[in-house]
Amino acid sequence: MPAKVYETRWHGRGGQGTVTAARVLAEAAYHEGFQGVQTIPFFGAERRGAPVAAYTRFSREPVRIHSNVYTPDIVVVVDPTLFESGMANITDGLKTDGILVINNPGNSDTVSKIGKLPRGAKVFTVDATSISIEFGLEVAGLALSATPMLGAFAKATGLISLDSTLEALSDIFRGGEGEKNLKAVEMAYEKTVEHVVPEEQYLEGSMPVSRRERVSQFKTWRDLTPIPVSKPSEASMGITGEWRVFKPVYDREECNRCLACWMFCPENVVSVDEEGYPVINYTYCKGCGVCASVCPKKNMHLVREKEEA
Ligand code: SF4
Ligand code: SF4
Repeated sequence: MPAKVYETRWHGRGGQGTVTAARVLAEAAYHEGFQGVQTIPFFGAERRGAPVAAYTRFSREPVRIHSNVYTPDIVVVVDPTLFESGMANITDGLKTDGILVINNPGNSDTVSKIGKLPRGAKVFTVDATSISIEFGLEVAGLALSATPMLGAFAKATGLISLDSTLEALSDIFRGGEGEKNLKAVEMAYEKTVEHVVPEEQYLEGSMPVSRRERVSQFKTWRDLTPIPVSKPSEASMGITGEWRVFKPVYDREECNRCLACWMFCPENVVSVDEEGYPVINYTYCKGCGVCASVCPKKNMHLVREKEEA
């Protein structure tokens, strides 16, 4: 059975450090022993104060999903004003038994503003804004509230230890700046508390998920609607296959025709034959090895050109 992929979605505003925190979490997961880690930022209007999201995935095995997170196990809310503004579907797709970790400035009654939750979901809060201000984590008047949320994440989920979180932070922030970040995360870890969710706040059934119906139509890569992608041809770059040192080859007997190699080839030089097997255009394949790294069966191998000939 494949290892579970833990999916986290972060919601904050531009300038609060949300994207950086999502990245630190991925590094912390790596320190914790998760070998597959991934972080993806998602910007809307690129200015301070605008809603931003970021995604962190981690697993004991390589992570092969490369999309936004639609059905999170954990949602981290750096800016709770997003609940009231309606500018982000914060609890969208939260899994049953999912975890919501919320910055709760002034320890106000944020929980009542969340709306419906899937049955079994847990809610944890911490006043990350006050902690940021206490340790001087501010830039141009905006509190970097996302950093303390890393401590809250560690406490609420138990998936990543505080030690791994601090180790990841130390990799990124050095000197006095690093000290402040570490202390803020430690304090947030201490002050994170769980809230009892009233029975009436639970939803019967699962949370709505944007795009679920559309995605479910696709069973394999081949079901995707074809989109125009340029094919390489001889031009200013010449015959790019001549650059190649290693050549990708695969065993047809072992191939499961998943077409991950076709999907991820950055040069678009993999096509599909009539039986659904990949065909590599060696005239333009650069030997980058992406196809070999994404092949789930480890069936695409890179061989030296001379050895293979
Ligand atoms: S080695 Fe790179 S360019 Fe060649 S087929 Fe694989 S992914 Fe495409
Ligand atoms: S990724 Fe591997 S298993 Fe999938 S089609 Fe390509 S060679 Fe075959």
